Amino acid sequence: MNEQQSKKLDSKVPAGPLAEKWDKHRFDSKLVNPSNKRKFTLIVVGTGLAGASAAASLGELGYNVKAFFIHDSPRRAHSIAAQGGINASKNYANDGDSVWRLFYDTIKGGDYRAREANVYRLAQVSEAIIDQCVAQGVPFAREYGGVLANRSFGGAQVSRTFYARGQTGQQLLLGAYQAMMRQVDTGKVTLFKRREMLDLVTIDGRARGIITRNLLNGEIEAHEGDAVLLCTGGYGNLFYLSTNAMNSNATAAWRCYKRGAMFANPCFTQIHPTCIPVSGDHQSKLTLMSESLRNDGRVWVPLKAGDKRPPSQIPEQERDYYLERRYPSFGNLVPRDVASRAAKAVCDKGMGVGTTGQAVYLDFAEAIGRLGEAVIRDRYGNLFDMYEMITGENPYKTPMRIYPAVHYTMGGLWVDYNLMTTVPGLFALGECNFSDHGANRLGASALMQGLADGYFVIPYTIGNYLAGGGLDKVSADQEEFKTVMAEVNGRIGKLLGIKGKRDPRDFHRQLGKIMWDNVGMGRNEAGLKTAITEIGKLREEYWQNLRVPGEPTTLNKYLEFAGRVADYFELGELMARDALHREESCGGHFREEYQTSEGEAQRRDDQFAYVAAWEFKGDKAEPEMHKEELKFENVELKQRSYK
Ligand SMILES: Cc1cc2nc3c(=O)[nH]c(=O)nc-3n(C[C@H](O)[C@H](O)[C@H](O)COP(=O)(O)OP(=O)(O)OC[C@H]3O[C@@H](n4cnc5c(N)ncnc54)[C@H](O)[C@@H]3O)c2cc1C
Repeated sequence: MNEQQSKKLDSKVPAGPLAEKWDKHRFDSKLVNPSNKRKFTLIVVGTGLAGASAAASLGELGYNVKAFFIHDSPRRAHSIAAQGGINASKNYANDGDSVWRLFYDTIKGGDYRAREANVYRLAQVSEAIIDQCVAQGVPFAREYGGVLANRSFGGAQVSRTFYARGQTGQQLLLGAYQAMMRQVDTGKVTLFKRREMLDLVTIDGRARGIITRNLLNGEIEAHEGDAVLLCTGGYGNLFYLSTNAMNSNATAAWRCYKRGAMFANPCFTQIHPTCIPVSGDHQSKLTLMSESLRNDGRVWVPLKAGDKRPPSQIPEQERDYYLERRYPSFGNLVPRDVASRAAKAVCDKGMGVGTTGQAVYLDFAEAIGRLGEAVIRDRYGNLFDMYEMITGENPYKTPMRIYPAVHYTMGGLWVDYNLMTTVPGLFALGECNFSDHGANRLGASALMQGLADGYFVIPYTIGNYLAGGGLDKVSADQEEFKTVMAEVNGRIGKLLGIKGKRDPRDFHRQLGKIMWDNVGMGRNEAGLKTAITEIGKLREEYWQNLRVPGEPTTLNKYLEFAGRVADYFELGELMARDALHREESCGGHFREEYQTSEGEAQRRDDQFAYVAAWEFKGDKAEPEMHKEELKFENVELKQRSYK
């Protein structure tokens, strides 16, 4: 470490042996008496897996919950798109799994940039998540004898991924949604649909409410509460093209950052190796082909650069199964960051396939030959159908063409062990926090984390916060709310008042290109400096030349996007700044200056074994970086190897 641990970041990790920390912490935490719980009102923003599971659990405990979301139904949250599965260390496959192994794989998979205590807790509660979901009726795949089935995901040598065909997120979300709706029925949870949180209200330094815009009639509303739980998902859409749902955005988290919540490791972005490649300038969305496909699909490119023959005419000996060649022990199931970089490397050398040369093959011929088409259809039928609908090619007959794309953000609001941000009373759950995945998330671990946070962590830690006292009653009529409402109205007026020539999506597309070219899969000092300058210029033009047609008092998608894109400019610059300062390669952050002779990521633990948490210092000032030193007492820091 070249600087001391920041005094502003107290991770509140409990003392004691790793395996006992969570139990001890739960025992040491204060409780809220059952009859006092109904005196508290909790604001939950977002009802994807993290938010719906939190709202359901907190309602069940007896708290009053107000749940806000931008969609018309909680079932439309981005979580519904999750395909491949959810990890848990049940060891049903009897292949050597354990809490300890899931913990170890996650720390190693994250390239040693996550907090040990959080990750261990995640592995511990993973087993309870599966029990909870089964009890709710989530239809996980089963073996012939009835036991839940497992498959493998990247970065693990055991099969620990529970799944419901290629629709795991949908089924889990239906489970959480039903549990939440039960509480809606009892009156403990109140839903506020089609509301976008546009700001946070703090009183005496504590989070006490939010300002929302009703997306249907434009009304700006103030809502008070005793704590605010942000469950608003990730910010991958900043890159314009990503696998995220179109409505995923960074606004709520970003506005909280500007109210004092530090933003941790913003540059840690996951580029997923198996997505349908970009086919032209017209696209606004990329489609994921689940990692589960790498259980049976083999990745290859032609051995010879520029080989344009169709795949069926390229004989075995003229193919390079480069993942199997480079990483014999993990083969096609290396973690995402490793697989993505390897795909980029072969394409950069001219071996890429398809019209753009920016694709590699994912080939099921061998598996179909071995298992039969029916088995493959049973495992991945809906994914194959989706691929065929988009590309017009039949993947049972010809290999899929895939290429890496932005998929997930490991960075997010900094939280302590209790999931509380640096603003007291503001908690962050699910993808919008930075907590458990370090510099690279392993496949099937996001659903696990979102549900761990919502079902099993926050119910304890929020009680400890509320029981700490000092929460006087506040009302949305108070001056503090009015002031923030006026600021929100002012900002909307400003966006509408520019009356320039370019619409927000046009700016967004250009921002996305700057980000992908310079803050994407490969990053270097010159590119990152260029990104900071170019983002600054484009942002200036945005505030001079933006065109937002329509009214503020009706459904106005342009206005919604305009606010989000304005936030993307600021967050994009912070991402570039964070990537520039981190002079090492780790996980999804690949600084080209720091690589081994074999092209692998080269960490610099003596300098960078810390979480970088950025503090907003004002629109005209540079943000200040704080460091949370990461201590590894239970795993040995090693060069990651999947060979
Ligand atoms: C295509 C795809 C497939 C995936 N497959 C898997 C998988 O198989 N396994 C796995 O573990 N992970 C997977 N992931 C990752 C995983 O789906 C996400 O990380 C996870 O679902 C995020 O859940 P969440 O609850 O944190 O947020 P989300 O599900 O994104 O929910 C966000 C919620 O916040 C609301 N919201 C957002 N902004 C605002 C605002 N300003 N005001 C009010 N409400 C707001 C939204 O309405 C929504 O309700 C996949 C991701 C993608 C893109």
